[in-house]
Amino acid sequence: MDAVFPKKCVCCRALGGTICENCLKDVEKEFSPKMFCIDGGFVCNSAFRYEGRVRDAIKNFKFSNVKRGAQVFDVWLSKVKNYSGKINCVCSVPMFENRQKERGYNQSEVLARSLAQILGLPFENVIKKTRDNLSQRGLGSDERKENVHDVFSVSSCVKGKSVLLVDDVVTTGATLFECLSLLCLAGAKAAEGLTLANVKLSK
Ligand SMILES: [Zn+2]
Repeated sequence: MDAVFPKKCVCCRALGGTICENCLKDVEKEFSPKMFCIDGGFVCNSAFRYEGRVRDAIKNFKFSNVKRGAQVFDVWLSKVKNYSGKINCVCSVPMFENRQKERGYNQSEVLARSLAQILGLPFENVIKKTRDNLSQRGLGSDERKENVHDVFSVSSCVKGKSVLLVDDVVTTGATLFECLSLLCLAGAKAAEGLTLANVKLSK
């Protein structure tokens, strides 16, 4: 496989391994775990600001079929906070089924599954996107809230569990708020967010 599709760095696309030495050094420098609150008093942690090498990697991860990005960034996600004993399962912000078929994968789910494995916790596919909506990109804060309202449903199997919700990037927190609220409505004991990058914390 590698001879046909030689491995390129997930950040700069230089030929070589999954991430080149220069980018790995930059990513190490960029690691800046932060906790912040979104609407409803929900807590979300993020590993990086949405800038530099991490931003490059997330763009590749999202749009250029660089699924291997998870192999680089799952470790950083696991270092954000000590989740041991505090979480029962990991889930992710879903994509609409047809969109996921088009892309071939949901980058947030790939990250969440990879993280769950590191943490030794189950990944549970508990949130479904029941209808397609506009991309959140380019929308204002109120439009974002409106755009994600009533597009998700949550399985009742989260009842009594403490759930960690993973997404790739948080901007205003509208999507996370919607999903975390639904997790709690479905009976989750606790729910908090974890994202790879945070746009608000960027310069
Ligand atoms: Zn590189």
